[in-house]
Parts: sequence; structure tokens; C-alpha cells
Amino acid sequence: MTDGEILLYAPKFSAYTKSKVLMAFPGPESFALSSLGYLWLFKDLDEDEEIWVKRVYSDTAQLSTNPKTVDFIAFSMSFDMDFLKVFEMLEKFGIPLKKSERGEDFPLIFAGGPVVTANPTPYEEFFDFFIIGDGEKINTEVIKSKEGRGKTEFLEYISTLDGVYVPNITKKVKKRTKKLEEVIYTPIISDKAFFKNTFIVEVARGCANRCGFCLASYLNLPLRCLDFDKIISALDLGLKHTKKIALLGAQLSAHPRFGDICEYIHNRVKSGEQIEMSVSSLRVDTITPEILEVFKACGQKNITLAIEAGSERLRKVINKNLTREQIFKAVDIAKNAGLKGFKFYGMIGIPTEDDEDIEELITLAKDLKSQYKGFNISFGFSTFVPKPHTPFQWCGRENSKSLEKKSRYLKKELHKIGITADFSGINSDYWQAVLSRGDNTLADFLIDVYKFGGKSGAFKKSAKEHNIDTDHFALQDFDLENPLPWDFIELNPKKDFLKQEHDRLLNYKKNS
Ligand code: SF4
Repeated sequence: MTDGEILLYAPKFSAYTKSKVLMAFPGPESFALSSLGYLWLFKDLDEDEEIWVKRVYSDTAQLSTNPKTVDFIAFSMSFDMDFLKVFEMLEKFGIPLKKSERGEDFPLIFAGGPVVTANPTPYEEFFDFFIIGDGEKINTEVIKSKEGRGKTEFLEYISTLDGVYVPNITKKVKKRTKKLEEVIYTPIISDKAFFKNTFIVEVARGCANRCGFCLASYLNLPLRCLDFDKIISALDLGLKHTKKIALLGAQLSAHPRFGDICEYIHNRVKSGEQIEMSVSSLRVDTITPEILEVFKACGQKNITLAIEAGSERLRKVINKNLTREQIFKAVDIAKNAGLKGFKFYGMIGIPTEDDEDIEELITLAKDLKSQYKGFNISFGFSTFVPKPHTPFQWCGRENSKSLEKKSRYLKKELHKIGITADFSGINSDYWQAVLSRGDNTLADFLIDVYKFGGKSGAFKKSAKEHNIDTDHFALQDFDLENPLPWDFIELNPKKDFLKQEHDRLLNYKKNS
């Protein structure tokens, strides 16, 4: 424990620890301390007296131990660009980036998290193994199984475990999908966290909506809702230490007792507690006056909703079957509940999108603005990035020039009606697409991206030096019948279902 941290569990120490582990976060401490998965997996290891574990971040100034002397370094990778920080940290530790340059005496280096669960192949040369899927408990099992085994014997052994991928040994790996019996919450509350002193609790994992582009949904199916009583016990524990809570889940309102969870918090607010609550996301069609009343009581002034696409046809294409009426109804409820504004999240460059879809988005924005005068309406846009294991994994992305043109047009048109719109980096989304659909030919390219500074120019320069056709990974439609680099990962739904969904969704015609 360090200054400013409250631990909600009891670490176990022993003079006879069998394994030394560094839990490495490829980002600053503040982000790590707001990362529920990272903290929970750290807690799992810290509660085991046979394991000595320390946290390390990209901005950790000094480590109390020499990283070269530990048994394992575990990285958690949540974002495509995390590899840059992984390389930076390994270099700082004095550890060669490529595993082929690390001998028997170097620690075993592995990674888990959504990036490598979806497609670990671009990173195969850097990690000894990967955890594919939910990391709870498997980390401990893997780490403990090292005792008495040399590196090669150990890697061969763990390659037989579900959810462990050892490059060059594993042929097929089954993604680990854990039955959620315990509620996951931030076991460390810290004033150094990005979400300062916030207690985050997981309410549901996965999302049954299966939007065609959505990795968060497809990678975490089936939707699993945590037990209501256990969520309440977790909230009681957190609220003893802080009044800032956050409910986490890709589809929170799908929890059958989401209304009761909100009511429980509301009752505590009504009895005088000053609770600040935030939520990760809500579906437009599940907003009710009761839920918004709780949000308001917990200090929220605005609400953020993802509608993804401006036209009804495109919302069908992505499987977000949300009608114009449902959007207006949600704004109505929010306004009546006394909230001050709405931020809509949208995406441009969705497969099959054309000018009419963009015009329909502008019309929707205009109609909202004129019907809800004085209500603050804004838009945030990202661009479509194809992700493995989704029905849109075969779809190439629109080229950056055309996306830039669309974004300038949208910005201008929305500005005319007094709506602000911000856009995620179109260029960085292009490189994300390269990484998401990349393969093991990218290793040297990635090293040089890092060496050239990690910015967009570095990607371009490195691609040129290594003769990598990055447009192939980012822009081209992949043939449905060809193998994909991540086909060896077994999860549900299977590839045949994704193909059917791909065909069904992309065939929504105008007025269908
Ligand atoms: S509703 Fe949101 S989380 Fe669920 S599948 Fe769609 S985009 Fe993903």
C-alpha cells in the first residue's frame, strides 16, 4: 500500500513466497488506479501468500526490486496503442523486447486483456504467453504451476490450459469465460486515481445487443449479470470509504434489477448521504424517469448516450435497432427530469454508409435542437474500426481522406445549428485498425514504430522501411472464405454465425 490508498482487502505475506510477479500497467499510475480489471487481478495475486506481487506503471520512477530478477511480468493490454508503453517499460527494465533474445534467466513475460484476447498475433514475438479471456484465477493458477519447471516445460504445460495461448505450441485456444460468482470492485481506492477516490463496481459483463462492430459485446458473450445482493454488499463496503461510486457494465440496464440498484442508492441519498454516482453507459431505450431522478440526485447534470448512427437504416445495419421516436423520448425524459443536456455518441464510416445517412444524421440533430431549445445537445464521433470476432471483422474501413471530408462537413453543418461536435483522431483510428486486424508479420514494424517515436509519422516511416501494406489490414474487405489470423481462438458465437450476421446486417437496404 502507498500513501493516499485505501485497501479493501488484506494482502497476505509470507517469508516463503514461491513466485515474484510484477503487474505492469502500460500507462500512468492514475489510469491504473482507475482500471478495475488490473486492480482486481492484482488483488487476486496479493491475497495469495505464495506470491509476491508489486504494481508498476509507465511513470513509476523507481522500483524497489530489479525487474530482471522476478519470475513473471504481467502486462494488461486494453488499448491497441498499449504496445508502445509495453516496449518503453521493457526497455527501462533492461529487458530485450523480443522473447528470442531473452534467455532462461529472464522473467517470463505475458499479457492479458481485450487487445490480446481479440488478436494476440501481432505481439507474439514479444510475449512468452497470453491469457485469452477472463483473467480471474487463471493468473494465479498459471503462476503457481511454474514451480519446479524450466521455461520450456512450463510453457508446454500451460499450453494445455483453457485460456492460455503459447505461440508456436498452442494450436487452438478456448477463450476463458468465467461464471461470475463474485462481484468485482476496485479493491484499492485512491486519491491518485484518474477517477479520484471512486469505488467502481461491476454490475454486468458483456452486452447481449451484439452491435455488428462491437468487440466489447462479442468478446464477452454471454451477458452475465452479477447477483443483486452481492452488488449491494459491495456498494455498502465501498460507501464506507468514499461517496463516489461508479457502476460498470457494457449494458448496465440489462441487469434485471438495475432499477432496484438505483433505488437502493437513491434511498441512501434521500436519507442524507451525498453520493456522487456515475454510470458507464445506458441504452437510449432503457431510460426511465425513475433512473434519471436517481442520476440527478447523485449530481449528474448531463447524460451521454451512444446512438452510433444518425439514420434508422444504419442503426439497423449495426444491429442497434433504435428508432427516432425512442431517441426523442429519451431526450424528453431527460429534460423533464431536470437534466441540462445530452451528449450523443456517433460513429462515421460504418460499412454501407452513404451521403443520405449523413444527411439524416444532420436532420436528426436539427430536429432535436429545434424541439429542445435551451437544452444542451452535443455530439462526439469516432470512426469505424473493424475488430476481430465481430460480424464486421471482414469489412475494410473507409479511407482517411474521405472520413476527414465527412467530419469537416458534419462539423460545419452541426456548428451552423449551434451543436458542437468533436471527433476522435481519424489517423490514429486507421493505425488501430492495422493493429486490430494485423498478424505476426508486424513484429519488426512495431519495434520501429516505437523507435521512431510512436506518432503517426513513425507508423508511416516504419511501414515503408518494412514494406508493410498497412492498407491491406485497415482498408481492404477480407474474403469471408479465407482464414483469419485469429481463427485459432475459439469462442462463442462461432465464425459461421458471424458470417450469417455479416450478410444479414450489411444487406439492409434503404426503406427496408
Ligand atoms: S449496445 Fe453498446 S455495448 Fe452493446 S453491443 Fe451495442 S455498442 Fe456494444
